[in-house]
Amino acid sequence: MASRRIDTYLQDLLGEDRYDFYSAVRDFSDDAIGPKILEWERSHCHIPDEAIAQMAELGLFGIPVPEEFGGQGGDHLDLVLMGLALGYHSQSAAITPGAAVSLGIKPLLLCGNESQKREHLPDLAAGKRMFVFGLSEPGRGSDAANPEVTAAKGDAGWILKGEKCWSTNAEWASHVVVHAMTDPDAPNGQRSTCFIVPMDREGVHYQEMAGKKAWEQSSTGSIMFDNVLVHEEDLLGELGGGFKVMVTTLNGGRLFVAALALGSLAFALDRCSKYVQERTQFNDQAIGRFQRVQDVILDMDMALEKNLTWLIHLCELYLAGNLSREQAAKIKISCSNEASDLLVKAMEICGGVACLDEFGLIRHHNDLFVTRVGEGSNLALKTLATRPLLPEIRNILQ
Ligand SMILES: Cc1cc2nc3c(=O)[nH]c(=O)nc-3n(C[C@H](O)[C@H](O)[C@H](O)COP(=O)(O)OP(=O)(O)OC[C@H]3O[C@@H](n4cnc5c(N)ncnc54)[C@H](O)[C@@H]3O)c2cc1C
Repeated sequence: MASRRIDTYLQDLLGEDRYDFYSAVRDFSDDAIGPKILEWERSHCHIPDEAIAQMAELGLFGIPVPEEFGGQGGDHLDLVLMGLALGYHSQSAAITPGAAVSLGIKPLLLCGNESQKREHLPDLAAGKRMFVFGLSEPGRGSDAANPEVTAAKGDAGWILKGEKCWSTNAEWASHVVVHAMTDPDAPNGQRSTCFIVPMDREGVHYQEMAGKKAWEQSSTGSIMFDNVLVHEEDLLGELGGGFKVMVTTLNGGRLFVAALALGSLAFALDRCSKYVQERTQFNDQAIGRFQRVQDVILDMDMALEKNLTWLIHLCELYLAGNLSREQAAKIKISCSNEASDLLVKAMEICGGVACLDEFGLIRHHNDLFVTRVGEGSNLALKTLATRPLLPEIRNILQ
Protein backbone atom coordinates (compact mmCIF):
# COMPACT_ATOMS: atom_id res chain seq x y z
CA MET A 1 0.00 0.00 0.00
CA ALA A 2 1.33 3.41 -0.96
CA SER A 3 2.02 5.76 1.91
CA ARG A 4 -1.00 7.48 3.35
CA ARG A 5 -1.46 11.18 3.71
CA ILE A 6 -2.67 10.67 7.28
CA ASP A 7 0.65 8.99 8.16
CA THR A 8 2.61 12.14 7.36
CA TYR A 9 0.48 14.07 9.87
CA LEU A 10 0.59 11.35 12.51
CA GLN A 11 4.37 11.13 12.27
CA ASP A 12 4.54 14.79 13.30
CA LEU A 13 1.86 14.56 15.96
CA LEU A 14 2.94 11.37 17.75
CA GLY A 15 6.02 10.19 19.57
CA GLU A 16 7.93 7.24 18.17
CA ASP A 17 6.33 4.54 20.36
CA ARG A 18 2.84 5.72 19.58
CA TYR A 19 3.58 5.87 15.89
CA ASP A 20 5.00 2.34 15.97
CA PHE A 21 1.82 1.10 17.61
CA TYR A 22 -0.30 2.87 14.97
CA SER A 23 1.87 1.37 12.18
CA ALA A 24 1.45 -2.15 13.54
CA VAL A 25 -2.36 -1.83 13.57
CA ARG A 26 -2.32 -0.16 10.15
CA ASP A 27 -0.28 -3.06 8.71
CA PHE A 28 -2.69 -5.55 10.24
CA SER A 29 -5.58 -3.57 8.75
CA ASP A 30 -3.95 -3.61 5.29
CA ASP A 31 -3.37 -7.39 5.49
CA ALA A 32 -6.42 -8.70 7.30
CA ILE A 33 -9.22 -6.18 6.64
CA GLY A 34 -8.54 -4.24 3.41
CA PRO A 35 -8.33 -7.27 1.08
CA LYS A 36 -11.38 -8.98 2.67
CA ILE A 37 -13.93 -6.25 3.24
CA LEU A 38 -15.49 -6.36 -0.24
CA GLU A 39 -16.07 -10.10 0.01
CA TRP A 40 -17.67 -9.66 3.46
CA GLU A 41 -19.85 -6.88 2.11
CA ARG A 42 -21.04 -8.90 -0.85
CA SER A 43 -21.85 -11.88 1.32
CA HIS A 44 -23.63 -9.58 3.84
CA CYS A 45 -21.85 -11.19 6.77
CA HIS A 46 -20.67 -9.66 10.01
CA ILE A 47 -16.95 -9.46 10.79
CA PRO A 48 -16.02 -13.17 10.74
CA ASP A 49 -14.94 -14.90 13.94
CA GLU A 50 -11.51 -15.52 12.43
CA ALA A 51 -10.89 -11.78 12.01
CA ILE A 52 -12.13 -11.11 15.54
CA ALA A 53 -9.74 -13.77 16.81
CA GLN A 54 -6.86 -12.11 14.92
CA MET A 55 -7.72 -8.75 16.48
CA ALA A 56 -7.79 -10.40 19.91
CA GLU A 57 -4.41 -11.99 19.22
CA LEU A 58 -3.02 -8.56 18.44
CA GLY A 59 -4.32 -7.33 21.80
CA LEU A 60 -6.83 -4.88 20.35
CA PHE A 61 -9.55 -5.79 22.86
CA GLY A 62 -7.29 -4.99 25.78
CA ILE A 63 -5.62 -1.75 24.67
CA PRO A 64 -6.34 0.44 27.74
CA VAL A 65 -6.61 -2.43 30.23
CA PRO A 66 -3.76 -2.43 32.80
CA GLU A 67 -1.26 -5.25 32.39
CA GLU A 68 -2.12 -6.60 35.85
CA PHE A 69 -5.56 -7.48 34.41
CA GLY A 70 -4.11 -9.05 31.25
CA GLY A 71 -4.35 -5.98 29.02
CA GLN A 72 -1.87 -4.02 26.95
CA GLY A 73 -1.43 -1.20 29.47
CA GLY A 74 -2.09 1.39 26.77
CA ASP A 75 -4.49 4.32 26.90
CA HIS A 76 -7.32 6.08 25.11
CA LEU A 77 -5.05 7.72 22.56
CA ASP A 78 -3.90 4.24 21.51
CA LEU A 79 -7.54 3.28 21.13
CA VAL A 80 -8.16 6.31 18.92
CA LEU A 81 -5.13 5.36 16.80
CA MET A 82 -6.64 1.91 16.37
CA GLY A 83 -9.86 3.60 15.18
CA LEU A 84 -7.91 5.55 12.57
CA ALA A 85 -5.96 2.51 11.38
CA LEU A 86 -8.87 0.04 11.13
CA GLY A 87 -11.45 2.66 10.16
CA TYR A 88 -9.38 3.46 7.08
CA HIS A 89 -10.62 0.24 5.48
CA SER A 90 -13.81 -0.40 7.41
CA GLN A 91 -15.65 1.35 10.20
CA SER A 92 -17.44 -1.95 10.91
CA ALA A 93 -14.10 -3.63 11.55
CA ALA A 94 -12.92 -0.75 13.73
CA ILE A 95 -16.08 -0.45 15.80
CA THR A 96 -16.02 -4.15 16.73
CA PRO A 97 -13.03 -3.90 19.10
CA GLY A 98 -13.72 -0.14 19.37
CA ALA A 99 -17.16 -0.49 20.97
CA ALA A 100 -16.03 -3.55 22.94
CA VAL A 101 -13.41 -1.33 24.57
CA SER A 102 -14.74 2.23 24.54
CA LEU A 103 -18.34 1.29 25.45
CA GLY A 104 -17.85 -2.14 27.01
CA ILE A 105 -14.63 -2.14 29.01
CA LYS A 106 -14.45 1.60 29.73
CA PRO A 107 -17.48 1.81 32.07
CA LEU A 108 -16.00 -1.08 34.04
CA LEU A 109 -12.54 0.50 34.16
CA LEU A 110 -13.96 3.90 35.15
CA CYS A 111 -16.68 2.84 37.60
CA GLY A 112 -16.32 -0.88 38.41
CA ASN A 113 -15.20 -2.18 41.81
CA GLU A 114 -12.10 -4.31 42.34
CA SER A 115 -13.93 -7.63 42.36
CA GLN A 116 -15.81 -6.80 39.12
CA LYS A 117 -12.52 -5.84 37.47
CA ARG A 118 -10.85 -9.08 38.58
CA GLU A 119 -13.82 -11.13 37.42
CA HIS A 120 -14.23 -9.62 33.95
CA LEU A 121 -11.20 -7.68 32.73
CA PRO A 122 -8.84 -10.57 31.89
CA ASP A 123 -11.41 -12.25 29.62
CA LEU A 124 -12.56 -8.92 28.16
CA ALA A 125 -8.98 -7.93 27.36
CA ALA A 126 -8.40 -11.29 25.67
CA GLY A 127 -11.55 -10.92 23.54
CA LYS A 128 -13.08 -14.01 25.18
CA ARG A 129 -15.89 -11.95 26.69
CA MET A 130 -17.64 -8.84 25.36
CA PHE A 131 -19.73 -6.21 27.16
CA VAL A 132 -22.23 -4.14 25.17
CA PHE A 133 -23.52 -0.71 26.02
CA GLY A 134 -27.25 -0.66 26.80
CA LEU A 135 -28.18 3.00 26.81
CA SER A 136 -30.48 3.60 23.80
CA GLU A 137 -34.06 2.36 23.79
CA PRO A 138 -36.84 2.37 21.19
CA GLY A 139 -38.40 5.42 22.90
CA ARG A 140 -35.26 6.98 24.42
CA GLY A 141 -32.38 7.97 22.13
CA SER A 142 -31.25 11.55 22.64
CA ASP A 143 -33.28 11.69 25.86
CA ALA A 144 -31.14 8.94 27.34
CA ALA A 145 -31.10 10.38 30.87
CA ASN A 146 -34.65 9.15 31.46
CA PRO A 147 -34.72 5.44 30.56
CA GLU A 148 -37.99 3.55 30.15
CA VAL A 149 -36.23 0.35 31.17
CA THR A 150 -36.94 0.02 34.89
CA ALA A 151 -35.23 -1.78 37.74
CA ALA A 152 -37.64 -2.18 40.67
CA LYS A 153 -36.28 -3.24 44.07
CA GLY A 154 -37.78 -6.45 45.47
CA ASP A 155 -36.80 -8.82 48.27
CA ALA A 156 -34.42 -10.91 46.14
CA GLY A 157 -32.86 -8.00 44.22
CA TRP A 158 -33.95 -5.72 41.37
CA ILE A 159 -36.31 -6.76 38.57
CA LEU A 160 -35.37 -5.38 35.15
CA LYS A 161 -38.08 -4.76 32.55
CA GLY A 162 -38.00 -3.15 29.12
CA GLU A 163 -35.96 -3.05 25.94
CA LYS A 164 -32.63 -1.67 24.79
CA CYS A 165 -31.81 -1.27 21.10
CA TRP A 166 -28.95 -0.33 18.78
CA SER A 167 -26.53 -2.29 20.99
CA THR A 168 -23.30 -2.64 19.01
CA ASN A 169 -21.67 -6.11 19.17
CA ALA A 170 -24.83 -7.70 20.58
CA GLU A 171 -24.23 -10.88 18.58
CA TRP A 172 -20.99 -11.54 20.44
CA ALA A 173 -22.01 -10.12 23.81
CA SER A 174 -21.42 -12.03 27.02
CA HIS A 175 -22.90 -9.21 29.17
CA VAL A 176 -24.85 -5.99 28.67
CA VAL A 177 -24.36 -2.87 30.78
CA VAL A 178 -27.95 -1.77 31.29
CA HIS A 179 -28.90 1.80 32.16
CA ALA A 180 -32.21 1.54 34.04
CA MET A 181 -34.56 3.84 35.93
CA THR A 182 -34.34 3.07 39.64
CA ASP A 183 -35.91 6.18 41.22
CA PRO A 184 -38.10 8.37 38.98
CA ASP A 185 -38.65 10.87 41.84
CA ALA A 186 -34.94 11.55 42.46
CA PRO A 187 -33.35 14.80 41.18
CA ASN A 188 -32.02 14.96 37.61
CA GLY A 189 -28.98 12.77 37.07
CA GLN A 190 -29.71 10.55 40.10
CA ARG A 191 -32.71 8.60 38.86
CA SER A 192 -30.94 5.77 37.08
CA THR A 193 -28.48 2.99 37.84
CA CYS A 194 -26.25 0.75 35.70
CA PHE A 195 -26.20 -3.03 36.03
CA ILE A 196 -23.90 -5.63 34.47
CA VAL A 197 -26.23 -8.36 33.21
CA PRO A 198 -25.08 -11.66 31.69
CA MET A 199 -26.73 -12.28 28.32
CA ASP A 200 -27.58 -15.85 29.37
CA ARG A 201 -29.50 -14.80 32.47
CA GLU A 202 -33.13 -15.92 32.49
CA GLY A 203 -35.40 -13.38 30.78
CA VAL A 204 -32.74 -11.72 28.60
CA HIS A 205 -33.53 -12.01 24.88
CA TYR A 206 -31.41 -10.72 22.01
CA GLN A 207 -32.45 -10.11 18.43
CA GLU A 208 -30.28 -8.74 15.64
CA MET A 209 -31.71 -5.52 14.10
CA ALA A 210 -32.46 -6.29 10.45
CA GLY A 211 -32.05 -4.02 7.42
CA LYS A 212 -29.15 -1.83 8.58
CA LYS A 213 -27.29 -0.46 5.53
CA ALA A 214 -24.45 1.30 7.36
CA TRP A 215 -21.81 -0.43 9.50
CA GLU A 216 -23.12 -3.53 7.72
CA GLN A 217 -20.41 -5.85 9.02
CA SER A 218 -21.02 -4.75 12.61
CA SER A 219 -23.60 -6.51 14.79
CA THR A 220 -26.39 -4.28 16.15
CA GLY A 221 -29.04 -5.81 18.38
CA SER A 222 -32.14 -5.25 20.44
CA ILE A 223 -32.03 -6.72 23.92
CA MET A 224 -35.24 -7.41 25.83
CA PHE A 225 -35.47 -7.75 29.61
CA ASP A 226 -38.43 -9.81 30.71
CA ASN A 227 -38.49 -9.59 34.51
CA VAL A 228 -34.76 -10.21 34.81
CA LEU A 229 -33.46 -10.58 38.36
CA VAL A 230 -30.30 -8.58 39.11
CA HIS A 231 -28.39 -8.52 42.38
CA GLU A 232 -26.37 -6.08 44.47
CA GLU A 233 -23.10 -7.38 42.97
CA ASP A 234 -24.39 -6.60 39.44
CA LEU A 235 -24.51 -2.87 40.16
CA LEU A 236 -21.93 -0.90 38.17
CA GLY A 237 -21.05 2.27 40.06
CA GLU A 238 -23.39 3.63 42.69
CA LEU A 239 -27.12 3.27 43.10
CA GLY A 240 -28.50 6.40 41.39
CA GLY A 241 -25.20 6.93 39.59
CA GLY A 242 -26.17 5.36 36.25
CA PHE A 243 -26.27 8.54 34.24
CA LYS A 244 -22.82 9.48 35.49
CA VAL A 245 -21.46 6.08 34.34
CA MET A 246 -22.97 6.58 30.89
CA VAL A 247 -21.88 10.19 30.46
CA THR A 248 -18.31 9.47 31.59
CA THR A 249 -18.14 6.59 29.13
CA LEU A 250 -19.50 8.63 26.25
CA ASN A 251 -16.82 11.32 26.51
CA GLY A 252 -14.19 8.79 25.45
CA GLY A 253 -16.57 7.09 23.02
CA ARG A 254 -17.07 10.33 21.11
CA LEU A 255 -13.32 10.66 20.59
CA PHE A 256 -13.35 7.16 19.11
CA VAL A 257 -16.26 7.96 16.77
CA ALA A 258 -14.39 11.09 15.64
CA ALA A 259 -11.44 8.82 14.79
CA LEU A 260 -13.68 6.56 12.70
CA ALA A 261 -14.83 9.56 10.68
CA LEU A 262 -11.24 10.64 10.08
CA GLY A 263 -10.24 7.09 9.10
CA SER A 264 -12.88 7.26 6.36
CA LEU A 265 -11.79 10.73 5.29
CA ALA A 266 -8.14 9.61 5.14
CA PHE A 267 -9.11 6.70 2.89
CA ALA A 268 -11.16 8.95 0.59
CA LEU A 269 -8.33 11.47 0.29
CA ASP A 270 -5.82 8.80 -0.78
CA ARG A 271 -8.30 7.06 -3.09
CA CYS A 272 -9.32 10.27 -4.85
CA SER A 273 -5.78 11.70 -5.10
CA LYS A 274 -4.66 8.55 -6.90
CA TYR A 275 -7.69 8.32 -9.15
CA VAL A 276 -7.79 11.93 -10.37
CA GLN A 277 -4.15 11.68 -11.42
CA GLU A 278 -4.82 8.49 -13.40
CA ARG A 279 -8.22 9.18 -14.95
CA THR A 280 -8.04 11.15 -18.20
CA GLN A 281 -10.72 13.16 -20.02
CA PHE A 282 -10.47 15.84 -22.72
CA ASN A 283 -7.25 15.39 -24.72
CA ASP A 284 -6.17 12.45 -22.60
CA GLN A 285 -5.17 14.53 -19.65
CA ALA A 286 -5.78 13.81 -15.98
CA ILE A 287 -8.99 15.16 -14.44
CA GLY A 288 -6.84 16.26 -11.49
CA ARG A 289 -5.81 19.29 -13.58
CA PHE A 290 -9.26 20.84 -13.14
CA GLN A 291 -9.18 23.33 -10.33
CA ARG A 292 -12.65 22.34 -9.10
CA VAL A 293 -11.35 18.81 -8.66
CA GLN A 294 -8.23 20.11 -6.90
CA ASP A 295 -10.41 22.17 -4.55
CA VAL A 296 -12.09 19.02 -3.22
CA ILE A 297 -8.74 17.26 -2.74
CA LEU A 298 -7.38 20.26 -0.87
CA ASP A 299 -10.55 20.62 1.25
CA MET A 300 -10.24 16.97 2.29
CA ASP A 301 -6.58 17.41 3.14
CA MET A 302 -7.22 20.55 5.21
CA ALA A 303 -10.15 18.92 7.04
CA LEU A 304 -7.99 15.90 7.82
CA GLU A 305 -4.99 17.84 9.12
CA LYS A 306 -7.07 20.27 11.16
CA ASN A 307 -9.38 17.68 12.77
CA LEU A 308 -6.61 15.18 13.38
CA THR A 309 -4.49 17.77 15.18
CA TRP A 310 -7.49 18.82 17.25
CA LEU A 311 -8.42 15.19 18.02
CA ILE A 312 -4.93 14.27 19.24
CA HIS A 313 -4.89 17.41 21.41
CA LEU A 314 -8.26 16.47 22.96
CA CYS A 315 -7.05 12.91 23.58
CA GLU A 316 -4.20 14.40 25.57
CA LEU A 317 -6.67 16.49 27.58
CA TYR A 318 -8.73 13.34 28.15
CA LEU A 319 -5.69 11.47 29.44
CA ALA A 320 -4.96 14.34 31.82
CA GLY A 321 -8.59 14.21 33.05
CA ASN A 322 -9.38 17.63 31.62
CA LEU A 323 -11.71 16.96 28.69
CA SER A 324 -15.13 18.59 29.03
CA ARG A 325 -18.32 17.05 27.63
CA GLU A 326 -18.65 20.02 25.32
CA GLN A 327 -15.16 19.46 23.86
CA ALA A 328 -15.89 15.77 23.25
CA ALA A 329 -19.17 16.72 21.58
CA LYS A 330 -17.56 19.38 19.37
CA ILE A 331 -14.82 17.15 17.97
CA LYS A 332 -17.36 14.41 17.16
CA ILE A 333 -19.59 16.97 15.42
CA SER A 334 -16.70 18.47 13.47
CA CYS A 335 -15.06 15.23 12.30
CA SER A 336 -18.28 13.48 11.32
CA ASN A 337 -19.95 16.46 9.65
CA GLU A 338 -16.89 17.51 7.67
CA ALA A 339 -15.93 13.97 6.64
CA SER A 340 -19.44 13.02 5.55
CA ASP A 341 -20.04 16.29 3.65
CA LEU A 342 -16.69 15.85 1.89
CA LEU A 343 -17.37 12.20 1.05
CA VAL A 344 -20.21 13.24 -1.27
CA LYS A 345 -17.84 15.66 -3.04
CA ALA A 346 -15.09 13.03 -3.09
CA MET A 347 -17.41 10.66 -4.90
CA GLU A 348 -18.50 13.40 -7.29
CA ILE A 349 -14.96 14.18 -8.44
CA CYS A 350 -14.43 10.52 -9.28
CA GLY A 351 -17.65 10.23 -11.28
CA GLY A 352 -19.85 7.16 -11.79
CA VAL A 353 -17.19 4.69 -10.69
CA ALA A 354 -17.58 5.98 -7.13
CA CYS A 355 -20.93 4.23 -6.72
CA LEU A 356 -19.35 0.81 -7.29
CA ASP A 357 -18.67 -1.10 -4.08
CA GLU A 358 -15.21 -2.16 -5.27
CA PHE A 359 -14.13 1.50 -5.50
CA GLY A 360 -14.48 1.74 -1.71
CA LEU A 361 -16.00 5.19 -1.28
CA ILE A 362 -19.68 4.27 -1.07
CA ARG A 363 -18.99 2.12 2.02
CA HIS A 364 -17.37 5.05 3.82
CA HIS A 365 -20.15 7.36 2.67
CA ASN A 366 -22.80 5.10 4.25
CA ASP A 367 -20.76 4.43 7.39
CA LEU A 368 -20.17 8.14 7.97
CA PHE A 369 -23.89 8.59 8.53
CA VAL A 370 -23.56 6.57 11.72
CA THR A 371 -20.79 8.84 12.97
CA ARG A 372 -23.21 11.78 12.73
CA VAL A 373 -25.90 10.02 14.78
CA GLY A 374 -24.16 7.44 16.98
CA GLU A 375 -23.03 8.27 20.54
CA GLY A 376 -25.31 11.28 20.46
CA SER A 377 -26.85 12.79 17.37
CA ASN A 378 -24.82 15.80 16.20
CA LEU A 379 -27.84 18.09 16.25
CA ALA A 380 -28.61 17.16 19.84
CA LEU A 381 -24.92 17.46 20.76
CA LYS A 382 -24.92 20.99 19.36
CA THR A 383 -27.53 21.82 21.98
CA LEU A 384 -25.14 20.46 24.61
CA ALA A 385 -22.08 22.19 23.15
CA THR A 386 -23.68 25.67 23.30
CA ARG A 387 -24.19 25.42 27.09
CA PRO A 388 -21.07 27.31 28.16
CA LEU A 389 -21.65 29.91 25.42
CA LEU A 390 -25.18 30.80 26.55
CA PRO A 391 -25.14 30.30 30.33
CA GLU A 392 -28.33 32.33 30.84
CA ILE A 393 -30.38 29.96 28.67
CA ARG A 394 -31.79 26.84 30.36
CA ASN A 395 -30.37 23.87 28.45
CA ILE A 396 -32.61 20.87 27.81
CA LEU A 397 -29.72 18.38 27.99
CA GLN A 398 -28.31 17.26 31.33
C1 LIG B 1 -25.30 1.70 13.97
C2 LIG B 1 -25.62 2.25 15.33
C3 LIG B 1 -24.98 1.75 16.46
C4 LIG B 1 -25.32 2.20 17.74
N1 LIG B 1 -24.73 1.64 18.85
C5 LIG B 1 -25.21 1.93 20.08
C6 LIG B 1 -24.76 1.22 21.25
O1 LIG B 1 -23.85 0.37 21.18
N2 LIG B 1 -25.37 1.48 22.43
C7 LIG B 1 -26.35 2.41 22.56
O2 LIG B 1 -26.85 2.58 23.67
N3 LIG B 1 -26.78 3.13 21.50
C8 LIG B 1 -26.25 2.90 20.26
N4 LIG B 1 -26.70 3.60 19.16
C9 LIG B 1 -27.80 4.55 19.33
C10 LIG B 1 -27.40 6.00 19.14
O3 LIG B 1 -26.65 6.43 20.22
C11 LIG B 1 -28.72 6.79 18.93
O4 LIG B 1 -29.17 6.50 17.62
C12 LIG B 1 -28.53 8.28 19.14
O5 LIG B 1 -28.31 8.57 20.48
C13 LIG B 1 -29.77 9.08 18.66
O6 LIG B 1 -30.95 8.57 19.19
P1 LIG B 1 -32.20 8.25 18.22
O7 LIG B 1 -31.68 7.49 17.05
O8 LIG B 1 -33.26 7.62 19.05
O9 LIG B 1 -32.68 9.65 17.70
P2 LIG B 1 -33.76 10.64 18.40
O10 LIG B 1 -33.40 10.89 19.82
O11 LIG B 1 -35.13 10.18 18.09
O12 LIG B 1 -33.45 11.99 17.60
C14 LIG B 1 -33.77 12.09 16.20
C15 LIG B 1 -33.25 13.44 15.73
O13 LIG B 1 -33.97 14.51 16.41
C16 LIG B 1 -33.08 15.61 16.58
N5 LIG B 1 -32.94 15.90 18.02
C17 LIG B 1 -33.22 15.06 19.06
N6 LIG B 1 -32.95 15.67 20.23
C18 LIG B 1 -32.48 16.90 19.95
C19 LIG B 1 -32.02 17.99 20.75
N7 LIG B 1 -32.00 17.94 22.09
N8 LIG B 1 -31.59 19.11 20.10
C20 LIG B 1 -31.62 19.17 18.73
N9 LIG B 1 -32.05 18.17 17.94
C21 LIG B 1 -32.48 17.06 18.54
C22 LIG B 1 -31.72 15.19 15.96
O14 LIG B 1 -31.70 15.57 14.61
C23 LIG B 1 -31.79 13.68 16.03
O15 LIG B 1 -30.93 13.05 15.09
C24 LIG B 1 -26.30 3.21 17.87
C25 LIG B 1 -26.91 3.76 16.73
C26 LIG B 1 -26.57 3.30 15.48
C27 LIG B 1 -27.25 3.90 14.27
